[in-house]
Amino acid sequence: MNHKQRVVVVGNGMVGHHFVEQITSLINPSSDAEVTVLSGEERLAYDRVHLSEFFAGKTADDLALTNEQIYADWQVRFYTNAKVTHINREKQQVTTSEGAIFDYDKLVLATGSFPFVPPIPGKDREHCLVYRTIADLNAIKHSASSSKVGVVIGGGLLGLEAANALKQLGLETHVVEFAPQLMGVQVDGGGGRLLKDKISALGVQVHTSMATEEIVDGDSCRYKMCFKGGETLETDLILFSAGIRPYDNLAREFDLAVGERGGIVINDHCQTSDQNIYAIGECALWSNFIFGLVAPGYAMAKIAAKHILSSHSDCAFTGADMSTKLKLMGVEVGSIGDAHGRTQDARSYVFDDQLSGVYKKIVTDPAGTRLIGAVLVGDTSDYDNLLQYHLNDLALSVAPESLIFPLAPTADTISIADLPAEAMICSCHQVTKHTIEQAVLAGAIDLVGVQTVTKACTGCGSCKSRVNCIIEHCVTEHSLAVTQAEPKRLSDSALIPVTELA
Ligand SMILES: Cc1cc2nc3c(=O)[nH]c(=O)nc-3n(C[C@H](O)[C@H](O)[C@H](O)COP(=O)(O)OP(=O)(O)OC[C@H]3O[C@@H](n4cnc5c(N)ncnc54)[C@H](O)[C@@H]3O)c2cc1C
Repeated sequence: MNHKQRVVVVGNGMVGHHFVEQITSLINPSSDAEVTVLSGEERLAYDRVHLSEFFAGKTADDLALTNEQIYADWQVRFYTNAKVTHINREKQQVTTSEGAIFDYDKLVLATGSFPFVPPIPGKDREHCLVYRTIADLNAIKHSASSSKVGVVIGGGLLGLEAANALKQLGLETHVVEFAPQLMGVQVDGGGGRLLKDKISALGVQVHTSMATEEIVDGDSCRYKMCFKGGETLETDLILFSAGIRPYDNLAREFDLAVGERGGIVINDHCQTSDQNIYAIGECALWSNFIFGLVAPGYAMAKIAAKHILSSHSDCAFTGADMSTKLKLMGVEVGSIGDAHGRTQDARSYVFDDQLSGVYKKIVTDPAGTRLIGAVLVGDTSDYDNLLQYHLNDLALSVAPESLIFPLAPTADTISIADLPAEAMICSCHQVTKHTIEQAVLAGAIDLVGVQTVTKACTGCGSCKSRVNCIIEHCVTEHSLAVTQAEPKRLSDSALIPVTELA
């Protein structure tokens, strides 16, 4: 090839942007590539994970992950409002809805997903909205200004975030969930029951086991939701949060393999059924699985970037951990690994303190020596410790129950010193204990410094306290002075990919 390799990225969400970061950090004069980004939205990438902070006062600029100047500095060509509608695989060209044509040598589909709206009659009325983009947030804000009551359809993780948004906007807020419990993907029945109690106590009315059949004109509000069984609920605004679906329309139309239930099929290098086209993030189906979290998408972005530049063709995506810790309306929730204990012969230990409102469950292998899952509601202080056991497959040296029962005689907390160097601390950016220590030794002796150098804590942010502990431990251990030279960026080779861990 005597021209620069032309890499065209379709979609500039969190994962598409991470791909741009990765590939531009790898490009050197000998492996020249030129990167073009086509963003279907009216702006460049922003932090979707922290979208809800918009209602707590953050602006679109606060949420931005990049800007025009940064892309210009990286020599990345970019176009906003550039929705790709056509792929010509023979000529290796894509066309946008405006008719602009871009040639590619490698095409990266990072088109993400869209909210699923169940086919309920009345769903297309005004003030029936979804919660995914900054444009959606503006629509919600606008609708809320003339509303008193709001209903979220869907009681999963995103539905509860959306309910929080409605509450912050001052609406009487309801959550309607089809299943018998909230957050059924991440927490078990016991955790779901406590979560419902806690969310209800905060003033959000939760209606589980309710199937909406129709949305019609209301009497006291704009609309009336009619449920199976005859019950009704009046509301002015409806937010659908009933799951997401991959944006795989381009793959379907232009004959790339897609999964039976959607998603663009990719191999371990993130290539689709056309080896010049990659798919990463929430639009990609790997091993029959779509990952709805940002960390797996980041791992795919890194692998695709390396593979496109071909010097690292041995790197492979091997799956990702789906553990999550979050605070919903102030209620702490954590979910690790096999939270439901579905592994054959798995053992469960449950601590259910109904008075204090704390529910903890751990799941171990049949021998009780490895932690394979956990659910925490009301108190996630054990999350970091449990996650380390799970992520690093560490043997439990004490009785499993001592990990969660407050009065157990020998609580087993892994000390920072005991954590192996390759222990994965930030799974969003695949940052190990060793990498953090290297950063501290290179002069990044506080959280901001370590974040700048390693990117740890800049994804979902749930590893913050563990990162702080490692920094403190390292500073003390090496008697580091607090005034240090500017931290240097670590070379990528200092980062141990998750694939190399046990
Ligand atoms: C409210 C909320 C809270 C969340 N919280 C968490 C969390 O706590 N932890 C976590 O890990 N994850 C969380 N997520 C999920 C996380 O945001 C996603 O996993 C992540 O954004 C996926 O990134 P992506 O780039 O694959 O897709 P997206 O971010 O959806 O980006 C895809 C982009 O591609 C564009 N696009 C689509 N088709 C085209 C086309 N034909 N041409 C051009 N552009 C196109 C879209 O407009 C979009 O801008 C949350 C999501 C939401 C909505």
